[in-house]
Amino acid sequence: MAITLNNGFKMPIIGLGVWRMEGKDIKNLLFHAIKIGYRHFDCAADYKNEVEVGDALAEAFHEGLVKREDLFITTKLWNSDHGHVIEACKDSLKKLGLEYLDLYLVHFPVATRHTGAGTTDSALGEDGVLDIDTTVSLETTWHAMEDLVSMGLVRSIGISNYDIYLTRDCLAYAKVKPAVNQIETHPYFQRDSLVKFCQKHGVCVTAHTPLGGAAANTDLFGSVSCLEDSVLKGLAKKYNKTVAQIALRWGIQRNTVVIPKSSKLDRLEENFQVLDFKITKEDMELIKSVDRGCRTNQPAKFWGIDLYA
Ligand code: NDP
Repeated sequence: MAITLNNGFKMPIIGLGVWRMEGKDIKNLLFHAIKIGYRHFDCAADYKNEVEVGDALAEAFHEGLVKREDLFITTKLWNSDHGHVIEACKDSLKKLGLEYLDLYLVHFPVATRHTGAGTTDSALGEDGVLDIDTTVSLETTWHAMEDLVSMGLVRSIGISNYDIYLTRDCLAYAKVKPAVNQIETHPYFQRDSLVKFCQKHGVCVTAHTPLGGAAANTDLFGSVSCLEDSVLKGLAKKYNKTVAQIALRWGIQRNTVVIPKSSKLDRLEENFQVLDFKITKEDMELIKSVDRGCRTNQPAKFWGIDLYA
């Protein structure tokens, strides 16, 4: 099942996120995922595992497990590379061993001090606050992203972690409209206005952190996991599914693409088994009521400033 983007390319509605996947586990996880049916992989320069993902993909192609044209590969421009878009994209392509990307995203709407080719450090000043590069505007970054499309290096370009104002602005200055806005959204952070705004204007929403980050974000950010929610647990029982499957199916039914991450083989399978049932309209409404407006992934923890304030 796929969503057609505003440029006609199709994006599989379920992808596998590879953030916090250990390099040594990647080959096994990706091979297993491909065998289950995953065709969409969500990467980023900042995840520091593009080389391992690339090695696994090369082996999968070599063994005839899958063909390049059957996959949808996303990666992302890091904050410190806004002034070096073409160089950064070529670096990611080289690490991934690919000739083109299906989707390249501006990872965050902030340009920070350049830390050198191929690096993704978040440089902090002496005050512990992120060092910003004030010479590059988001519009300049976007026009360089557009160049990647005309160069044939990427098929689609998009944004990530953009709010309504920034998305609106991007739509105004874009010659190539963003195909996707990848944002955190899950039952505890539904962001209905942003989702509706993007969809109305032809920008597909990809839900990052579609399980609310579960135990990983509880550990890292101290967040409350929607997988422990009693209403969702009740629905899981009713549909004979797991809470994770309810959260993912809910995401799909609101026309968002979901990219859950798991480093467990059985969970890769569980997270992919969400196309064989449908949540009723009434239960979709019920899930609306569990929203806590609660972001679970807060980069302020590392950057000394809250980008979303
Ligand atoms: P998710 O919502 O995907 O949650 C991942 C957590 O859920 C891990 O702890 C995982 O543990 C656990 N988990 C996975 N499946 C299940 C299951 N069926 N039942 C119970 N627990 C489960 O959060 P992520 O932060 O990983 O986000 C997903 C992807 O989104 C990332 O990999 C990345 O690609 C993208 N992302 C993009 C961001 C951006 O700024 N654009 C920011 C954050 C994420 P385990 O591995 O042990 O199974």
